[in-house]
Amino acid sequence: MSTITQYANQYVLDLVAYQPGKPIEETARELGLKVSDIVKLASNENSLGPSPKAIEAMQKATMGAHIYPDGASYTLRSKLAERFGVDFQQTVVGSGSSEIIELLCHACLHEGIELIAAKHSFSMYPIMCKLFGATYVEVDNKKDWSHDLQGMIKAITPQTRLIFITNPTNPVGTMVFQEEMDAFMEQVPNHVIVAFDEAYIDFADVKPDTLKYVKQGKNVIILRTFSKAYGLAGLRAGYGITTPEIADLLNKARTPFNMNLMAQAATVAALDDEAHLAASVHLVNEGKKQFYAAFDKWGIEYIPSHGNFILVKTGRGREIFNSCLAHGVILRHMDGYGLPDYVRITVGNERENARCLAVLESLLN
Ligand SMILES: *Cc1c(COP(=O)(O)O)cnc(C)c1O
Repeated sequence: MSTITQYANQYVLDLVAYQPGKPIEETARELGLKVSDIVKLASNENSLGPSPKAIEAMQKATMGAHIYPDGASYTLRSKLAERFGVDFQQTVVGSGSSEIIELLCHACLHEGIELIAAKHSFSMYPIMCKLFGATYVEVDNKKDWSHDLQGMIKAITPQTRLIFITNPTNPVGTMVFQEEMDAFMEQVPNHVIVAFDEAYIDFADVKPDTLKYVKQGKNVIILRTFSKAYGLAGLRAGYGITTPEIADLLNKARTPFNMNLMAQAATVAALDDEAHLAASVHLVNEGKKQFYAAFDKWGIEYIPSHGNFILVKTGRGREIFNSCLAHGVILRHMDGYGLPDYVRITVGNERENARCLAVLESLLN
């Protein structure tokens, strides 16, 4: 019998869809618990919530919801341009930085073309890459779990078009620093775009300067998101800072109104709320201390993180994930990331962290 799937692209049929963190409502439904009983530490969201200024801006924006948003996202992009000291034409916005990752793939990937990324980094890259029929080239992380930039240089071929440097990297939380990055950038040939995925850069104590490569006119793009430190994951908002040439390419590939009204209003306000950002980073730093102290006491291995999450070696990751879930604590198992002995824990507030630690203690000790 013929079905429509036999006419679909084989490289799409071969894909395994992205596995997001388990939603709170679904978990509550399955366990017969109240939504308020569930602690979700699975998707690196901000447990402080959105900035009150962003909420106010969204409330104001609701009255204009019958009108298409500004397709050029003028106010937001002007603000970003000013903040980074670049031209308006060097900014790109999207429905999460995931969309900008997709636009990059749109612009340069097709069959026979290669994308390079670190083995332990964002699981969206291989999905996007394969979605465009291109070849995904994985470079193993170094012993300390950071990106092997020299290994990535060695992996470059004439077919390479895109390299992702995830800094700090998800799900391991390690970083690469300036010197190593400068040496890397010296060696990247002109036919390759380097994407610095800086989704977690706000949490890092040391922030390598990648903007200088943009200002030098190199083929790079800095990707940032409002989903993590800014607490606006539900809105879907991210941006890129890049050369006018690359920005132009991405703007051609996007849909006309790819950033919605609420997202534009909220992000403009959120960028001005530095106190909220600082409080978010502070909460995460305190939370990391809380987790590390417990893990050190129990003698459990973890990777000190520059992000708002911790990769912990509990052994039997999926079992631990399921047992925590049964107690209303949602973590992330790492099967899809090839790390079956680990779980990734998003750092929440003190109460959420304590709940998670209490459940883990009963399971591990
Ligand atoms: C969360 C995340 C993103 C961005 O997600 P959006 O919500 O689509 O902005 C990008 N890269 C990495 C590594 C992430 O973890």
